Amino acid sequence: MYRKPVARDAATHYRRYVSSSGVMRKAHLVRQIRGRKRIGSAEGQHWNLESVFDGLNSQFFHGLLGRPQMTWSRGHARNHLGHYDPAHNAIVVSRVFDHQRVPRQVVEYIVYHEMLHLKHPVRLHGGRRSVHSAEFRAEERLFPHLAEAKAFLKHFGGIL
Ligand SMILES: [Zn+2]
Repeated sequence: MYRKPVARDAATHYRRYVSSSGVMRKAHLVRQIRGRKRIGSAEGQHWNLESVFDGLNSQFFHGLLGRPQMTWSRGHARNHLGHYDPAHNAIVVSRVFDHQRVPRQVVEYIVYHEMLHLKHPVRLHGGRRSVHSAEFRAEERLFPHLAEAKAFLKHFGGIL
């Protein structure tokens, strides 16, 4: 006999509780944190991506490229060996390459490739998106250990 009114009352209290601004703010904060870009660290077990970037920047770009957020991927995803994310101005390298058996040249090549994405933004070319333009490819060929790095990366089968 008393249950129904009590339950309805509890539901009303709950609605009031949830719609109170403090709770709404907390829920909003949780959504923000969950949706946030998870930025990892440039410092790996073996290679530091910021020092790799800085070395390549002075070697190939006269030190003129602004360093974006450099980070190892959080997981061991292999579908992306690396990528440049213009929205967050971040270069992400797959953590599988943070390994003692991965030559520094390979990590350098991945970072160099992504630095070229930073330098050559995606353009529309005759209505098509030109991700790796002729200029991009020409500049990529300046990397001294390109063939070895590409041969090594073939085993991973991901994309750059
Ligand atoms: Zn690419």
